[in-house]
Amino acid sequence: MKKKRIYLDYAATTPVDPQVFSDMRPYFTEKFGNPMSIHSFGREASDALEKARQSAALFFGCDPGEIVFTSGATESNNLAIKGTIIAQANHKSDCKPHIITTQFEHSCILNSCKKMEEQGMAEVTYLPVGKEGIVKIKDIEDAIKPNTILVSVMYVNNEIGTVQPVKEIGKLIEKTNKNREQKILFHTDATQAINYFDCKVDNLGVDLLSMSAHKIYGPKGAGCLFIRKNTPIKRIQDGGGQEFGLRSSTHNVPGIVGLGLALNIAEKERQKASKIVEKLRDHLISRIMKEIKGVKLNGSRLKRSPNNANFIFQNVEGEGLLLGLDIEGVAVSTGSACSSGDLRPSHVLMAIGIPEEESHGSLRITLGKYTTKYEIDYAINALKEVVARLRKIAGK
Ligand SMILES: *Cc1c(COP(=O)(O)O)cnc(C)c1O
Repeated sequence: MKKKRIYLDYAATTPVDPQVFSDMRPYFTEKFGNPMSIHSFGREASDALEKARQSAALFFGCDPGEIVFTSGATESNNLAIKGTIIAQANHKSDCKPHIITTQFEHSCILNSCKKMEEQGMAEVTYLPVGKEGIVKIKDIEDAIKPNTILVSVMYVNNEIGTVQPVKEIGKLIEKTNKNREQKILFHTDATQAINYFDCKVDNLGVDLLSMSAHKIYGPKGAGCLFIRKNTPIKRIQDGGGQEFGLRSSTHNVPGIVGLGLALNIAEKERQKASKIVEKLRDHLISRIMKEIKGVKLNGSRLKRSPNNANFIFQNVEGEGLLLGLDIEGVAVSTGSACSSGDLRPSHVLMAIGIPEEESHGSLRITLGKYTTKYEIDYAINALKEVVARLRKIAGK
């Protein structure tokens, strides 16, 4: 008999919803056309593409012409950061364009910002996020300079699940822009927010928004970037001119079809799914805090995504925990990333001030719409055993 496996790593990726998969299927086989072709095969594919664009537009409350399909959030974030900076490159001004972001963004944002700094294209302010893991509006306000052209703050942090005050930042930027010639653009990486939070771009006040299909029960290799009309942005990839010239490359039609449907489903299921997942997550947190000694929850208890729990277990290694749980069939994640060959602890845990030695005992448990109470209780029991065993071995 195959051993039962329990997946509690939904922030890393999600399974494709069976309905999404069955809608994608024909676009691999009989409806395989290239949307750029003029014949009936091409039209069939481009109709599907435009239908998905409309689904995305409906979800974000924008124009279909403001959606650019990409390969995922990494690419969307690269395009948002580099594309808006490159669009400023020819401006005859003494100072470089200035970006404001936070210390605990996804690495694709941080590394895109670093690349712009290294190439002398921009200067960047990386704001702290404090113990709670939430950026302060006042810090953003104070960081704004005459040459600031972009603020990029993620909606929900992928490691600790904390929710950033995106709407308030949007309001601050709107107010600031009233008396400025050089308008500030506001970008958010909403990848972890789509399943649980309002993502209407006008409510958020964003000019750019990134997301990825595989975090919302869609396929890997598809995502999009919302770009508000008249936003100064340049392509970062040259080619045949697909996606309004902003993202050349033959469209991933099945992936984009899957993305569109995943967004439709997310919109429909969001409220109900949030409540169910949150209840299970709260059960998980309260049992773990009660039944295991020497545990801390990382990041704000209340302002966090309903599906995220991130702990420090004192006197254990997160790696050992992860591997011990894996043997029990429970899949989770750790921020003590020795497995990636990088011995430094997670930049997110460092940003919220977790001391290095403690960060080694971190564990991220993320739930999803297929998570059951049985799975949560099974995982808690396994966790109790593994923690006790590891502490005993370590003599703690
Ligand atoms: C997963 C994730 C990404 C990267 O998305 P891909 O589609 O895998 O490139 C970026 N930002 C956040 C917040 C994520 O959770």
